[in-house]
Amino acid sequence: MSSRLRGKNVLITGASSGIGEACARHFAQAGSNLLLAARRKDRLEKLKKDLESQHSQIKVSTFELDVRNRAKVQATAATFGDVDVLVNNAGLVIGLEKLEDITEEAMDTMIDTNVKGLVHVTQAVLPGMRARDRGHIINIGSVAGQQAYGNGSIYCGSKAAVASISKALLFETIDTAIRISEINPGMVETEFSMVRFKGDKSKADSVYKGVHPLDGNDIAETVVFVAGRPEHVNIAEMLVFPTNQA
Ligand code: NDP
Repeated sequence: MSSRLRGKNVLITGASSGIGEACARHFAQAGSNLLLAARRKDRLEKLKKDLESQHSQIKVSTFELDVRNRAKVQATAATFGDVDVLVNNAGLVIGLEKLEDITEEAMDTMIDTNVKGLVHVTQAVLPGMRARDRGHIINIGSVAGQQAYGNGSIYCGSKAAVASISKALLFETIDTAIRISEINPGMVETEFSMVRFKGDKSKADSVYKGVHPLDGNDIAETVVFVAGRPEHVNIAEMLVFPTNQA
């Protein structure tokens, strides 16, 4: 357990499943207080109950939040108090098609969530970090932001945007003690593929054929490691693959 994270206030977006939920469990283990955000409030409430029964010393708050809604993000963030660590994790892939076939709806959903949603939450939290001259923003990108693939133009583009935003923020916060990190997972078995294939489990499972995928804990351990370094150490970028993915 990293004692540096004990008592810190950690905001995690997309905490209702997968990597975000695993991050919540690992930060709780490290003694951090949690601000958990996602659209599925019932999931967050269940997680809160679970975490509070296991870790009596931490405080867990839940927020029903669609990161696409800038005004709601701003209003909700006003109730957060000080955020020490922000994990910008909410994201999704849908409607992978050739560029000429991708629907406006799929394109908007991915860009509004993966790019604009991340910016909305960052805009709501960063001024407080600047005022206190400390804080850590950890963006969950993807290997897809570095290695584009066919039918993935918009999703890959959205994650390339996350990489560029993270790097630009490094410069924009260079005169502060704020850290900016980008963690890029390879294949992780979560609800991600179920969302992609609209709940078709056999299609979702086929994505992992021939690969031993990571699970949410593998990424959460990495996130907690990155957050737990001393304040003068910033792990700016990490690529985390399953061993048999390249
Ligand atoms: P999951 O589908 O399990 O989790 C996605 C989370 O994002 C859910 O908690 C969902 O919550 C939340 N979310 C989606 N849309 C919104 C929204 N508009 N507002 C708020 N929350 C939202 O997938 P993962 O855990 O795998 O995905 C987490 C991140 O990891 C994503 O950014 C994804 O791109 C990235 N990633 C995943 C990989 C993988 O192979 N799984 C590989 C590389 C990167 P709710 O529906 O309740 O709002």
